[in-house]
Amino acid sequence: MKLVFEQSVQGRMAITLPASNVPSYTLQCATRKTQADLSEISEIDLVRHYTRLGKQVYGVDNGFYPLGSCTMKYNPRLNEQVVELEGFNNVHPTQCPCETKGTIEVMTNMQQDLCAITGMDYVTLQPAAGAHGEFCGMLLIKKYHQSRGDTLRKKIIVPDSAHGTNPASANMCGFEIVTVSSNKEGGVDIDNLKQIVGPDTAGLMLTNPNTLGLFDKNILSITRIIHDAGGLCYYDGANLNAIMGMCRPGDMGFDCVHLNIHKTFSAPHGGGGPGSGPVGCKQMLAKFLPTPIIGKQPTVEYSLGKVKSYCGNFPVILRGYTYIKTLGSSGLKQASQLAVLNANYLRILLQQDYTTAIDRICMHEFVLDVKDYHDNYSTSALDISKTMIDYGMHPPTMYFPLIVHEALMFEPTETESKQTLEEVAEIMHKISIRAKDSQDDLHASPVTTPIGRVDEVKAARQPILKYQPQ
Ligand SMILES: *Cc1c(COP(=O)(O)O)cnc(C)c1O
Repeated sequence: MKLVFEQSVQGRMAITLPASNVPSYTLQCATRKTQADLSEISEIDLVRHYTRLGKQVYGVDNGFYPLGSCTMKYNPRLNEQVVELEGFNNVHPTQCPCETKGTIEVMTNMQQDLCAITGMDYVTLQPAAGAHGEFCGMLLIKKYHQSRGDTLRKKIIVPDSAHGTNPASANMCGFEIVTVSSNKEGGVDIDNLKQIVGPDTAGLMLTNPNTLGLFDKNILSITRIIHDAGGLCYYDGANLNAIMGMCRPGDMGFDCVHLNIHKTFSAPHGGGGPGSGPVGCKQMLAKFLPTPIIGKQPTVEYSLGKVKSYCGNFPVILRGYTYIKTLGSSGLKQASQLAVLNANYLRILLQQDYTTAIDRICMHEFVLDVKDYHDNYSTSALDISKTMIDYGMHPPTMYFPLIVHEALMFEPTETESKQTLEEVAEIMHKISIRAKDSQDDLHASPVTTPIGRVDEVKAARQPILKYQPQ
């Protein structure tokens, strides 16, 4: 498929401007030295180009999208209608607050709602994504220890099942990472935790349910062990879709948390943004929060400064706020209950053909281990994922968490119907039969897409990062 620039033919145009009814004026400054390299294309070719592109995209509006840990739930159209309202759409962040009372009210209420959902005392809406929130939260914890003259605390404890952003964010804040191992049930190994915790522990970063989709029943003991050693507890809220309205990080003993509005609260995501990763904290961290602060004011005498221009990605925050207000507290709780029910239903359906990494009731997601397919039928998690594409589904998250080698992590979310889940199980059954049939070769999949199997080693070793025009 050609780029829009390669379709350019001199003189073609997709617009006709009306005749000017004002005198013309030549700008003296700020003029380009060379002509901009814009495509000259007719309206119909332009429409066809973008329609063709649009058809090649796969999103949650096209079909099943069980990308574990990413919560690819349906994005209600009502959110979009609210974002498009003129009063929200036509404001500028430097405008006088007297003219933007509505946006300020939304942000104030959103902070309060997120406090109520997480059990935190304060929330900042500034961070632009989950990882950005982690970075901000880690800085809060760092500032806390520094302000107490507690300079020995240089280590952050992270489970071996953690999302890669956790150790990365802590490391970017200058912390050393210490890994705590998982026990047979998929939770934190308490004995191991007791061994590694000490006077150099700045804190713990944890997601519960964890990246195996399992709720850690020892959570209160875990956070107590960290607190007793003088450390703080950070909750990675990317998995909040499992527990909204059921339990709260604040009540589990966490001091600081980020949320992913683009996951849990239905704002669209994928393709790199924009996102929103608000950070909540308990009272003792509030004085370090980034400024400006909206609404209820803690005294931020030791603020860590700004982590994002203005007040964060407002349209994403507004989508999340609309979602919260549409569902209400009972609706949010029901969403989580259905997310967990859907995951368990699909897990049980798939168990006829596939093995779960840890055989327990799961929360909003679960991890299959297809090691038996790998060893007995030379079919890897990658082969199964690529074959799913041929059946019109997005593959699940693969090879994550790292402690499961042939991992396929399914997160169906609450918005899928029973019929859809049963259809998915049917397709997964077909794929299983094909994998076991030595006549069939899944290594060639996908065969129905414009681009088939790419050479991933070559893509990693010799990346061509810039488009090469033909
Ligand atoms: C998605 C995710 C993150 C990072 O969030 P981004 O918004 O993608 O930066 C962190 N932890 C877990 C468990 C996640 O699933």
